[in-house]
Amino acid sequence: MSEINRISSLISDCYSLVVNTALLTTHRVTLLTNTVLNTMKLKPLIFLIALFCSCSQWKYDKISGQKPVESKEEIDSVLSTLEKLRYSDLSDNYKERTGNIGVFKKMVEDGTFYRIREQDASKFIVGSIRLGNLLTHDRYHKFDLNRKSYQQIWLIDKHLLYKLLELKLELGKKGFDPDGFTVRDGHRHPAHNKLIGGASRSQHIAGKAVDIVILDINQDGKENNSDKQIVLDLLDKKVIQERGGIGRYPGTMVVHFDVRGKKARWDSY
Ligand SMILES: [Zn+2]
Repeated sequence: MSEINRISSLISDCYSLVVNTALLTTHRVTLLTNTVLNTMKLKPLIFLIALFCSCSQWKYDKISGQKPVESKEEIDSVLSTLEKLRYSDLSDNYKERTGNIGVFKKMVEDGTFYRIREQDASKFIVGSIRLGNLLTHDRYHKFDLNRKSYQQIWLIDKHLLYKLLELKLELGKKGFDPDGFTVRDGHRHPAHNKLIGGASRSQHIAGKAVDIVILDINQDGKENNSDKQIVLDLLDKKVIQERGGIGRYPGTMVVHFDVRGKKARWDSY
């Protein structure tokens, strides 16, 4: 009798193993299928956004004939084409929506804000970096960029733009690729900064910080730590020195620098 029990328990174990494996496999196949379907659903959207962006930039480049910005005077000249605003000019609605109130008021109230309209986002602001790259990448930025009614408020310390230019010029002087990095983040209003998990008193909130992604700076066909080290050394010894912060973020190709007016260095996010 016990032999029969053992055999029946063995059969039952085998059965559950087969059923569980089948269920797990089905679950994995469903997950994979969903991921593929979701990606396929998103692809046309991503493609359309990219197409719209490049269309408006192409249109702007063709009409304006603007060349990449290579000097501080040219940066000033682009800034002079924008509508300048003080903190007191901003609407209560904007201040509340973006969280530029309460504890953050102190961080931003002496800064220079600009009203950015559709065509402004395509303007070159430093080298071939477009102004749109340094705007808060919130939902207004992502979806309205190509609308005639597009408007966004930009807070930027022009000394940050000068430092970005200095980095490009120094790279060029040393025989490296001055365009060997992209901008990931510039200004982040407090609400967006919180949403993406930025430091609570981030210099991005005050328009004094930029995050860049390092590419093949030394043009050896690889994007690796040697490229990143070139940028970190230049920022530390030449461009920023004692006057600002540098986030090194080892293990990534991202570098943060800012113009806070005093020295700060750190590794982790
Ligand atoms: Zn940063």
